[in-house]
Formats: sequence, C-alpha cells, structure tokens
Amino acid sequence: MLKIKNLHASVEDKAILKGIDLHVRPGEVHAIMGPNGSGKSTLASVIAGKEEYEVDEGEIILDGENIDELGPEERAHKGVFMSFQYPVEIPGVSVTNFIKTAINETRKAQGLEDMPANEMLKLIREKSELLDIDRKFLSRSLNEGFSGGEKKRNEIFQMAMLEPKLAILDETDSGLDIDALRIVANGVNKLKSEDNAVIVITHYQRLLDYIVPDFVHVLHNGRIVKTGTKDLAHELEAKGYDWVKEEVNA
Ligand code: ADP
Ligand code: MG
Ligand code: MG
Repeated sequence: MLKIKNLHASVEDKAILKGIDLHVRPGEVHAIMGPNGSGKSTLASVIAGKEEYEVDEGEIILDGENIDELGPEERAHKGVFMSFQYPVEIPGVSVTNFIKTAINETRKAQGLEDMPANEMLKLIREKSELLDIDRKFLSRSLNEGFSGGEKKRNEIFQMAMLEPKLAILDETDSGLDIDALRIVANGVNKLKSEDNAVIVITHYQRLLDYIVPDFVHVLHNGRIVKTGTKDLAHELEAKGYDWVKEEVNA
C-alpha cells in the first residue's frame, strides 16, 4: 500500500528526515515512536504532502504510484487521511456539514456526483452509532470550544466517514488525556480492516496498550533506528530512548 524508499526531507533548508524506509501493507497498524524533535511529525506531514516540507531524495509510493508531486488534497482524494488536517474553528459550519462537503469534494475529484442526501444520512447514522457519537455533537460548530477529547472525536468521525486507505494519526502531547486516548484507540480499533492501514505516531506507550500495533518503529535524528513489535513499545516505556540512541552510536 505505502512504500517509502530512502526518504530525505527538509524544512526551511534544514535536513530533518535522513533516509527513511517504511513499508506498510493493507491491514497493518504501524506505530512510530521516538524522542521529541526526532522527525515524527515531519514524516507524517511529508506523507500527507504538506507544502512547507521539501522532499530532497527518495520516493513515496502509494498503491504503486509515486505521489511525491501531488498536493495534500490530491493525496487525500487518493485515500490518505491525516489527523489535524483541519484544526481551524469554523463558526457556523457544523461537524456534519463539514464532512458532507469533504466527502462530496472527494467524490467530485473522482468524477462522481454528490452523494445522495439519504445515503449521506445513512452513512452519518451508521458511523456515529459505531463510534458512540451523539446527535448534539454532530450539530456543533467545527472545533469551536472543543475540548481535547471532542477534537479527537471529530477527527475520528472524519476518518470514519472518509474511509481512508491510509490513516496517519499524529498524537502530539496536547490534549491527550485518558479520555482522548480511549476515543482515538476505540476509533482506530473499530475502523481498521484488511483493506486499510494506520500509522500512529506517538511518544506515549500508553496509547499502544489500547491500539495494538503490528510494528513499532523508533525514529531518531531523522532515521528509523529500530523496528520491533509491541514489546518494543513496552521496552521503551520501561527504559526510555537513551539505550536506542546508544545502540545507534555504538
Ligand atoms: P517530532 O514530531 O518527532 O517531535 P518534528 O518532526 O516536529 O519532530 O521536528 C523535527 C525537527 O524539525 C525539529 O528540530 C523541528 O524544530 C524541525 N521542524 C519541524 N517542522 C518545522 C517547521 N515547519 N519549520 C522549522 N522547523 C521545523
Ligand atoms: Mg511531533
Ligand atoms: Mg513540496
């Protein structure tokens, strides 16, 4: 599904990613961990195609197609979803109306007509029931006064509605209380299937108690320096990152 080969990327002429190789197959959950400043968010942004990041070398291949030259919307239309895509508050635009527009824009890009209103309602009902999201929440203004947990609920709802092939969740420090962690984990677990894949970025091992990853990668100084299974996350929780850095430098 996703193949990243020898990816080097920079921001404002500063090299951040220094040769990343990553292969994600359908049905897999990959966790990317690593100390602050190691390049985790940069990797997410580069996969999603954010414009500030420059790919200097290497390839990002989605379903056999090199997507390096595509903008973020085009990648989204090809099924790449990244959380925090729409962090803005939009007064007067509800959670539901926002996602309706996003779905119809995706369909338009694929040469399809708008989703019929009854079909859209059915989809909204189905996904909100699956994720335990109540009606009141769906009519709230987008991100306006949202708590950390509500932001997560909105993101997971967007992900559920868009049914991405590849979801990238960058779980930064902010607003990740236990409630928010559960919302994210519950959403990922309910939405994952044999046809999609998830990359979860976190430096919280705790999140991985709820989302069981198939692979855990440790990013350090712009490189994946170690790959393992969920046990690696526990080892990192117990021992921190220093031993990984020492191994790399040895
Ligand atoms: P992580 O998510 O692992 O904490 P980041 O990818 O956010 O790491 O950052 C890696 C490095 O890139 C840091 O040194 C950070 O300061 C730098 N960086 C990331 N994004 C930008 C940006 N937009 N402008 C300038 N520097 C950036
Ligand atoms: Mg980050
Ligand atoms: Mg660019």
